[in-house]
Amino acid sequence: MLNCKQVTRLASARLDRRLTLRERLSFRLHLMMCAACRRFDAQLQFMHGAMSRFGRGERPDREDR
Ligand SMILES: [Zn+2]
Repeated sequence: MLNCKQVTRLASARLDRRLTLRERLSFRLHLMMCAACRRFDAQLQFMHGAMSRFGRGERPDREDR
């Protein structure tokens, strides 16, 4: 079982690489049980989306992944 620290590391890792099946499963399992990490992950994705759109100079109305 992952702890919150490992989950936050995975949350940022998955923005850069594809997680393994095992990582994805334990990540999702943890998010189901932990509101703090759910919030962290949502914020991280929002930030990441905003930053990469900004970096690419694209219009901010679409989220492509
Ligand atoms: Zn957690």
